[in-house]
Amino acid sequence: MSQASNDTKTVLLVEDNEDNRFIYATALRYVGYDVIEAVSGAQGIEQARTRLPDLILMDISIPDVDGWEATIVLKADPMTRAIPIIAVTAHVLPGDERRSMEAGCDAYLAKPVSPATLIAEIDRRFGRVSVPQGTVNSGPRELGA
Ligand code: MN
Repeated sequence: MSQASNDTKTVLLVEDNEDNRFIYATALRYVGYDVIEAVSGAQGIEQARTRLPDLILMDISIPDVDGWEATIVLKADPMTRAIPIIAVTAHVLPGDERRSMEAGCDAYLAKPVSPATLIAEIDRRFGRVSVPQGTVNSGPRELGA
């Protein structure tokens, strides 16, 4: 097991819906991620540039700059282009997944996305196994030993 897989990772959550933002942020924090929140495309771009998160969850329908445009901007910027972007969207039109990929998104999840599904996708990308912060156990365990 690499040491890096236990490092705290920072996720930038770009989501304009307050309920979704609260549910996703709470779930991610619960399993040990640091979460930065943004409510619009412009704010998402700004937070990505200033905080350099390890991963971005990008809602597509967001104010000012939509998620596709924000992704294009971030993937064109040498400072931010390596950050994985997972598009999370309620758009269900057939072309939307393709459009997300063309914008440079690394993955695409169609809403409704359960917090468990979201966390599983993010954990998989980091090669991480989530242990809820509140879980009581006997101490550190070796996984896959
Ligand atoms: Mn939205």
